[in-house]
Amino acid sequence: MAIRLYNTLTRRIEDFHPLENGKVRLYTCGPTVYNVAHIGNFRAFVFYDMLRRYLKYRGYEVFHVMNLTDVDDKTIRDSAAEGVPLQDYTARYKKAFFEDRDALRIEPVEVYPAATEHIPDMVRTIERLAERGHTYVAEGSTYFKIDTFPSYGKFANLDLSGTRAGARITSDEYEKEDARDFVLWKAWTPEDGPVFWDTPLGRGRPGWHIECSAMSQKYLGETFDIHGGGVDLIFPHHQNEIAQAEGATGKPFVRYWLHSEFLLVDGQKMSKCLGNFYTLRDILERGYKPMEVRYVLLATHYRQQLNFTFDALTAARGALERLRDFARNVHLAGGNEAGEILDETNERREKEFVASLDDDLNIAPALGAVFNYVRDIGRLIADGKLAQQDEVKVLGKLRDWNKVLGLIDLEDETMTDIEVLQMIELRTQARANWDWDRADQIRLELERKGIVLEDRRGGTVWKRK
Ligand code: AMP
Ligand code: ZN
Repeated sequence: MAIRLYNTLTRRIEDFHPLENGKVRLYTCGPTVYNVAHIGNFRAFVFYDMLRRYLKYRGYEVFHVMNLTDVDDKTIRDSAAEGVPLQDYTARYKKAFFEDRDALRIEPVEVYPAATEHIPDMVRTIERLAERGHTYVAEGSTYFKIDTFPSYGKFANLDLSGTRAGARITSDEYEKEDARDFVLWKAWTPEDGPVFWDTPLGRGRPGWHIECSAMSQKYLGETFDIHGGGVDLIFPHHQNEIAQAEGATGKPFVRYWLHSEFLLVDGQKMSKCLGNFYTLRDILERGYKPMEVRYVLLATHYRQQLNFTFDALTAARGALERLRDFARNVHLAGGNEAGEILDETNERREKEFVASLDDDLNIAPALGAVFNYVRDIGRLIADGKLAQQDEVKVLGKLRDWNKVLGLIDLEDETMTDIEVLQMIELRTQARANWDWDRADQIRLELERKGIVLEDRRGGTVWKRK
């Protein structure tokens, strides 16, 4: 069975099959590093993370690229206002982004290309567009001529009948009503101060949209599998990315487009310009934990709007506590061995988990399967039908699901190689003293933490499960 995903390109849920068997090429629009990202931005990033983790869970190798926009109208405006060089200014917020990413247990992706390090790639893409007749120059800037790309507007369901041919727009962000020829390369103006590159296109800087077309194709090829972003990026950003990429190559750009919905505050989009935003730091200062934030961002389907409240964080705390208590109770279980019923339960709940996420990442029933499993096993424990030997299987199941959810701290994640070797040494000593019980206990303890041992003639070797 294939994973099914809602594709903005066709406005339908489709079976997902990558271009290359077993391998997914994925691009997601990353942060503009002009400020500390708010948790609305992180809703999109947590969504990308779950998508990536689930593709891996289903056996795909994932090559994931996420850009860092470190030159655009906003970064230039705000660095100038502070009188700090652009590079220093954005370095500060790149660092903050990576810190918050780690706190929220978002997996690092394969490449984080920064726009300022890919200017020649963007210039080449613009030159290819020029060769194919998609551009013109006005007042030193190069524009994309949208009437040379007949399907322009289709992706964003735009009605372009009111658009005047030849009318231009220079700002990076604009509304649907302002759909016009958009800028690829902006000629230097005094507001740009020291921010410019001297290139065959003249002195200037790239527009925001060209960045993603050039960098995604550089790392993922001219046509790749999945491109993700927030719904606010459908127009103009992704529409323009398509026009630029397909205009330059004549080939389809992206096969599946995925968009996540907004995080709201009191019914309004959380955003910097409205001032109704919280950063992760703001929330931690109020005594909440990063995993509670991750839980809240994750637990609502990505195509549904999510209203942020502190009550939701408190509820998430309760849910996480249940999972942690569960792991502890399983560890302490001292009944008879469960036998077949445990295997059946594992299989049934695993099927539910996968069937739910296969269905366009339907998270609510997937979490439902996890919590039903907690209840199933809780019953076995209460009935004295779970033994300590069963712990490996139960926590193993939880550990599997946690690969996708990333919500629980299971001890194996913190066990270092040195700690493993120390445990093996203790076990070797126990065996030398013919203390088989103690030796077995250590082996089980390691197994619980995902470490398997194999005794060979030359000594014990180990690996992580
Ligand atoms: P930016 O840093 O503004 O370029 O945005 C980075 C990502 O965050 C984009 O994918 C946006 O769509 C997304 N985003 C911005 N605001 C919100 C919000 N309130 N809820 C969900 N996603 C958002
Ligand atoms: Zn982008």
